[in-house]
Amino acid sequence: MKLVDGFQRHIDYVRISLTDKCNFQCFYCRPKQAEKVFLPSQAYLSKEDIEKLFLVLGKLGIKKVKLTGGEPLLRKDICEIIQSLSQNPYLKDISMTTNGFFLEKMARDLKRAGLHRINVSLDSLKEDTFHKISQTFSFSKVWKGILEALETGFKQIKLNVVLIKGMNDNEICDFVELTKKYPLTVRFIEFMPTKRTLIDQKKYYLSNMEAQAKIREHFTLISNLSDIHTGPSRYYKVDQGQGRIGFISPLSHNFCDRCNRIRITAKGKLRLCLFGDNDEIELLHLIRSKADEELQELILKSIVKKPLRHSLENGGAANVESFVSIGG
Ligand code: SAM
Ligand code: SF4
Repeated sequence: MKLVDGFQRHIDYVRISLTDKCNFQCFYCRPKQAEKVFLPSQAYLSKEDIEKLFLVLGKLGIKKVKLTGGEPLLRKDICEIIQSLSQNPYLKDISMTTNGFFLEKMARDLKRAGLHRINVSLDSLKEDTFHKISQTFSFSKVWKGILEALETGFKQIKLNVVLIKGMNDNEICDFVELTKKYPLTVRFIEFMPTKRTLIDQKKYYLSNMEAQAKIREHFTLISNLSDIHTGPSRYYKVDQGQGRIGFISPLSHNFCDRCNRIRITAKGKLRLCLFGDNDEIELLHLIRSKADEELQELILKSIVKKPLRHSLENGGAANVESFVSIGG
């Protein structure tokens, strides 16, 4: 069975938030004023819930899963969750997006559990700027985690860099330089507005076109055509580069026509579009009541409502409190 939306887009990829808790406070994601009220653990998807949900999603054609959050490595049962997903006969790709704080300690266990790929968020290579952005002095720790992940044998490690004017735009070429030395993919992401970050977003937004122009002053970018249609990122290489450079431009270059994904929130809601019109559909009660057929029906019925494109131009930011609850 295939999951096809109302615009004939085939959905085979799920991003699932495992928690809305985080040990960082990146100002573009979890600003200081964000409330710190967390619900009891039963309100969140358990390992068993996730296992069951992905068996149903697998039958519907889901092949790829990204574990995100909040910070997914804060889940004590993260390795068990990965292990159980790696037994799922439908899933071909299990990856994670992490802030990297616990990676040095956990990279080997994650690999052993069955994690295929890792993305690490890294907005600066300087301890003071890293602190300004995340409120933690964790650059060296995260960097050690990345080296450990390379050492452990993770391939295609991606570093996600949110572009922030006046904070990390003076490091854009240093990030590109990293791809010469290491087999890392650096992806520059445009700062997206949410309800809580609207004002900062206006102040700090830098487009990927501006970032590319800066890079082209110092490097020749070679287009990596083979990857161009595999996701929202446009990929390039520099001469003799071991890694790649990617640009994710949700604002300056809309990629919704190629969207192949849906999201599951930490509390078990299906979200059809990152910036959709408050389109969350409650799944937890059906997952827990072991009503597999009803769950499948509900997902199939909901998917046709997936919007053609995000509504950012029409105030869609108001539909997202912050990414920490959805997983980005
Ligand atoms: N804690 C993990 C991490 O930082 O990778 C996973 C969750 S985080 C919400 C997932 C991704 O969303 C990160 O790469 C982060 O940089 C990105 N993100 C969060 N808020 C954003 C925003 N306002 N604009 C663009 N990207 C954002
Ligand atoms: Fe936490 Fe990731 Fe959001 Fe930063 S981007 S606050 S690390 S969830």
